[in-house]
Amino acid sequence: MTLPITQFGNPVLRQKGARIEKITPEIRKLIAAMFAAMHKARGVGLAAQQVGHTLQLAVLDVREVTDRPSTLELAGQPADVLSIMPLVLINPEIKPVGPPFTGPEGCLSFPEIFAEITRPESVKVTALNEKGETFSFRCGGLLAKAVQHEHDHLQGILFIDRMTAATKADLKPELDDIQAATKAALKKK
Ligand code: ZN
Repeated sequence: MTLPITQFGNPVLRQKGARIEKITPEIRKLIAAMFAAMHKARGVGLAAQQVGHTLQLAVLDVREVTDRPSTLELAGQPADVLSIMPLVLINPEIKPVGPPFTGPEGCLSFPEIFAEITRPESVKVTALNEKGETFSFRCGGLLAKAVQHEHDHLQGILFIDRMTAATKADLKPELDDIQAATKAALKKK
């Protein structure tokens, strides 16, 4: 059974993830389960909070997306985005380096909700991989958007916090519905 994805209204989505000090067999198992849940839901990124764990861990895979390009630089040189896919980010640190860019975003914890979100166009990233090794890269386009979205999740920040007030007001009925359904489901448990 694949892990269920936590929905907006679940308090775990507002919790900051703890740093991972050691890549244990349990962490490796969780990474595999997160990839399975993300691929099943056809998402490009998933944070630990979205499967109920408060850890600095996210998985990403942009290989299925062909209409929104990503760019990658390794050690200052252009590189093939596919060379780092699928991507595991543990304890990621990010530094925005590009100008603001606005584009559509969705989130597996907010079914059917899509909105234009402005974030820096590119970011420098340093993280541990699933082997516990430190690695760095610079990325742009969709991958930069996804990395920033997942990094936010690890701090308990959600994409609704990045929406303009007008967008959030427009989406309020739908957001209230998701939150109410999640709270009702949690109460039943
Ligand atoms: Zn999300």
